[in-house]
Amino acid sequence: MSTPISAGPHEHEFRYYACVNLFRGMEAVGVVDVWRCAICHVKGTELRVQGLNNLSAEAGFPVLDSEDTRWVVFVCYAEEDPKFDLFNVHAGEEIQHECVEKSAPIVVSKVYSMENNGDKYHRVYNLDDYLNENLELTLGPQTV
Ligand SMILES: [Zn+2]
Ligand SMILES: [Zn+2]
Repeated sequence: MSTPISAGPHEHEFRYYACVNLFRGMEAVGVVDVWRCAICHVKGTELRVQGLNNLSAEAGFPVLDSEDTRWVVFVCYAEEDPKFDLFNVHAGEEIQHECVEKSAPIVVSKVYSMENNGDKYHRVYNLDDYLNENLELTLGPQTV
């Protein structure tokens, strides 16, 4: 991972950066909090699912992004209530996921969407596209 020249070795200083609200119809189903280091701009994230207690950001961020990875929201629509999770991935990476509707490997595309246009049950969303916005979890058309 390369960092800006001004950012030597340091303790990351995370500041709250943005949030992404996850909606299902009119219902808020979760929030992704994005924290960014004030010095080197790496981002850590925390997914808070409605109705569940989550670990606080004070515990630190076990995974951080880098120049060649992005944070994505992965959603499985196989059941009536979509399941979603947050991953830090690089283009071309396969998302590990088991379900009855999985017909092919779920591979992250160059623009951090999904390679397989024909997958009717899964979507990958680039979190950067939704900072401080609402992300509607629906099986709409996807950008590849
Ligand atoms: Zn830093
Ligand atoms: Zn699935």
